[in-house]
Amino acid sequence: MSESKNKLDIYSLDHLKPEVVAVAFAKCSRSPESFKDIADELTDEKSADFHEKWVVGYGHSSVAEHATLHLAIENVSILATKVLEDNRLASYTEKSTRYQIFDRDKYYKPENIMASKFAVDYETTMNYIFDTYTRLNEPLREFIVKKYPCPEDQNEKIYNVITKARVCDNSRYLLPTATLTNLGMTANAREFEHAIVKLLSHPLQEMQAIGARLKEESLKITPTLIKFANANEYLQKTPTELSTLAQEFLTAEPESVNPVEIVSYDPDAENKLVASLLYRHSEEPHKQIYARVKNMTPEEKEKVIDTALKNRADFDQPLRELENIYYTFDILMDYGAFRDVQRHRMATQLNQKVTVSHGYELPEEIIEAGLDKDFREVMDRSAELYHKLLPEFPNEAQYVVPLAFRKRTLFTWNLRELHHFIALRSGSKGHISYRRIAQACWQKLNDIQPLLAKYIRVNMKGGSDSWASTMFKPEYNYMPKK
Ligand SMILES: Cc1cc2nc3c(=O)[nH]c(=O)nc-3n(C[C@H](O)[C@H](O)[C@H](O)COP(=O)(O)OP(=O)(O)OC[C@H]3O[C@@H](n4cnc5c(N)ncnc54)[C@H](O)[C@@H]3O)c2cc1C
Repeated sequence: MSESKNKLDIYSLDHLKPEVVAVAFAKCSRSPESFKDIADELTDEKSADFHEKWVVGYGHSSVAEHATLHLAIENVSILATKVLEDNRLASYTEKSTRYQIFDRDKYYKPENIMASKFAVDYETTMNYIFDTYTRLNEPLREFIVKKYPCPEDQNEKIYNVITKARVCDNSRYLLPTATLTNLGMTANAREFEHAIVKLLSHPLQEMQAIGARLKEESLKITPTLIKFANANEYLQKTPTELSTLAQEFLTAEPESVNPVEIVSYDPDAENKLVASLLYRHSEEPHKQIYARVKNMTPEEKEKVIDTALKNRADFDQPLRELENIYYTFDILMDYGAFRDVQRHRMATQLNQKVTVSHGYELPEEIIEAGLDKDFREVMDRSAELYHKLLPEFPNEAQYVVPLAFRKRTLFTWNLRELHHFIALRSGSKGHISYRRIAQACWQKLNDIQPLLAKYIRVNMKGGSDSWASTMFKPEYNYMPKK
């Protein structure tokens, strides 16, 4: 009897409601009973009472992490998906602009713009953008088929999928951030509460509406845990106050810098990494290990780093010790690339607003296909509308900016995440826009710390090797007409 009590036992509680599961797990902290026995005694009401007392009353928010929700979010703007995905402790899958052609007429119309004198302008320009996007798909397809004919040994179905992706890789630059899309989000109730508070506190009406709907749906699954997710005054007020200060202190025109810059790093990273790698295998305090490492020869240090990283198979992540080394990158990239880079969650990201100020990317294949005039016309017309909206609607103006335009984001990554990001995003199957970013990040790291860069599995092939230095030559620096 006692033997069977001590036997390893693992079982699922997925048949129970998420809030009941959360209580069953939370109670194990004080109860000697098994999870099954605790759960058997629970009713919906008892669970709600428990959450009211402990999570809401005493602020034991971690209990809410055991209640998981899967929410299907449809017909939100691309701009909104990025606000949602800014919540890092969650999982997302989003409709791809690389593998799907987006419908005409499916774009977000901000209520306040539609009630203003800009309503006709907004609809006319958006319809024009979507008409052009739809119209260019066929000539682009013809161009792509000519440029990359179906190899004799290739299955036609696979060829068609690849061809469609090649077409979308070019046409997606035209889509404005108002484009409506779908997103699946899985997260625990604590993270959903956090996301809802941020959305409800956001200056854009769409985000507030998404926050309200998320709350409504979450309440059906976790009626107690999300109950008090409301707009937060601190989150509402502070950005406005900081924006006023930024306008007071930062009055210069933005300088032209490389699109990828390392703005902060630890010059002592090699010593710190070696000390971290030895730490787990010693009983000495870190201070003592670090002092010893500083006296090691370069060969000895390399031996430690090499030992830590050389045995990885293709998909093995490097050891956790690499998380002790941080880099901050300031990156200016088109919004299409940003959408992919942003999805890497082990990072601290600070976003500037979407704007037309930094110009746009013009894909080489659009020029080769002879469609650059149409492309530029879209950029010019959206920039014109953006400037019209800006004084009255500085936040809503972001919706009219196509994905080709560049935006600036500050990323702080640890070295472990840099390994993952650069290897995944420089891969040959990736879109050229984010491949260039990943390649440039590696190049910048290699310039300052080649010993640490050399173990990153970067793919530098693919015609973008010189991009980082040429991007700001006039032929790459497309600005909309004033
Ligand atoms: C070629 C390609 C095509 C893609 N197409 C699409 C697409 O069509 N639609 C789409 O939505 N996305 C798409 N993605 C994005 C992709 O699914 C990831 O969301 C994105 O690359 C983030 O990276 P990551 O999941 O590797 O983890 P990161 O966020 O970079 O995190 C680093 C590591 O931490 C761990 N980790 C992070 N978060 C979690 C978590 N919540 N649970 C468990 N482990 C975690 C994992 O080990 C992960 O590898 C595509 C990516 C590529 C490379």
